[in-house]
Amino acid sequence: MKTKMNTWKTLFLATGLLLGTSYAVKAEEMLGKEASNTGSEVKIDTPDKALQELKDGNKRFVTDKRVKRDYKAEIKDTKADQHPHSLILSCLDSRITPELLFDQGIGDLFVARVAGNVEDPNILGSMEFATKVKGVKLIVVMGHNKCGAVKGAIDNAELGNLTQLVEQIKPAIKGDRSNPDAMLDETAKNNVKMTIDDILKYSPVINELHESGTVKIVGAYYDLTTGVVKFME
Ligand SMILES: [Zn+2]
Repeated sequence: MKTKMNTWKTLFLATGLLLGTSYAVKAEEMLGKEASNTGSEVKIDTPDKALQELKDGNKRFVTDKRVKRDYKAEIKDTKADQHPHSLILSCLDSRITPELLFDQGIGDLFVARVAGNVEDPNILGSMEFATKVKGVKLIVVMGHNKCGAVKGAIDNAELGNLTQLVEQIKPAIKGDRSNPDAMLDETAKNNVKMTIDDILKYSPVINELHESGTVKIVGAYYDLTTGVVKFME
């Protein structure tokens, strides 16, 4: 009887172990996500890993293979500290949702949003905190097509404080006014490049981290008609 019990016990344990293992493998396959900085373990610790995770995340987003998230668990995992791998500077546009379109969870990204994704001293200060203090590895300046702020710059829009905001975008104006759609795209992309140049010019802190290879700064362009992000490397 004792032997029989032990046999059953062993069988039960082995089955549980097998089921447990296969469940873990299956769960990992289903999630399709290899790395995250949520929790205490920092897995994304280089600029290239961060960039790859954003590329993979956008792919999951457009192919409808998003990570199944447990927000309560993510809140619990991040309550003591945060280790985001990337900072996204994006437009205010309601259709640009960095956490969703890169399929990232709570504690994965710093997100700074302002109409026309331009930098200013407050944004630079936030970026310096994110990189130098919190160890973010990647800064992404993300523009998008059909951008109202960029169109406002091209059309000389004037409205309260918005006037000075679009003034910041005007140096990026590029293209032929006879082709407004192409001009809007060209200007928005040029605005991303100029914003990156300005970040490196006006933040010696980020410039130094960039020069040493500790932090990478890249441009990206989001197509709000498809959900696809193209990196401007
Ligand atoms: Zn916009």
